[in-house]
Amino acid sequence: MNLIFLGPPGAGKGTLAARVVEILHIPHISTGAIFRTAIAAQSPLGKKVKAIIDDGKLVDDATTIALVRERLMQTDTHAGYILDGFPRTIAQAEALAEFSAVDKVINFDLPDSAVLERLSGRRVCKNCGLNYHVIFNKPAQDGVCDSCGGQVYTRVDDREEAIAKRLAVYREQTEPLIGFYRDKGLLVDVDASPSVEKVVENFKAVIA
Ligand code: AMP
Repeated sequence: MNLIFLGPPGAGKGTLAARVVEILHIPHISTGAIFRTAIAAQSPLGKKVKAIIDDGKLVDDATTIALVRERLMQTDTHAGYILDGFPRTIAQAEALAEFSAVDKVINFDLPDSAVLERLSGRRVCKNCGLNYHVIFNKPAQDGVCDSCGGQVYTRVDDREEAIAKRLAVYREQTEPLIGFYRDKGLLVDVDASPSVEKVVENFKAVIA
């Protein structure tokens, strides 16, 4: 099953994707995570996108589309995939339609007030990318990932200045994808407000 996870930053797309990988046994492809790995490795791609990402803006379509096109050529995607954070513009969605057929687009709905609360408290494992929250989902040992022992840190783009910008970019450039995919009959809505367990349950119901 080829799935797209759509929704504002902080809606829990990454957290849910980690759970869905265990249920559907398909890879979780997060363009944000790919960019963060490239930045940590100081690769040419990482150097090119670092300032843009730290500032809360979008990486250009051509770079992002080429990255996803190449990733979807890998054999582990043959049984399906979860695209998290892509597409983020209409141009990206149109490009994707040329090289892959999407089965369903899950639209995780969350109001701005909840986005701000979640992102300002979000912490991420530098090593495996697992998400935590300073209030709702703390690691057992402060600053240490429960899963892999990696360092749990605050993403640069989860700082206050960048959060507001990312939210504005989402509403302006990514939200139009809701109508784009609804018109194609591919969109299903999932309320992202409840607990992770409840969202997982709702997700299972909509893809059944
Ligand atoms: P995320 O982890 O999905 O919140 O992505 C983090 C950052 O990576 C975004 O704020 C963008 O700067 C960049 N990024 C991720 N996916 C895309 C995309 N599809 N198009 C453009 N920029 C992206």
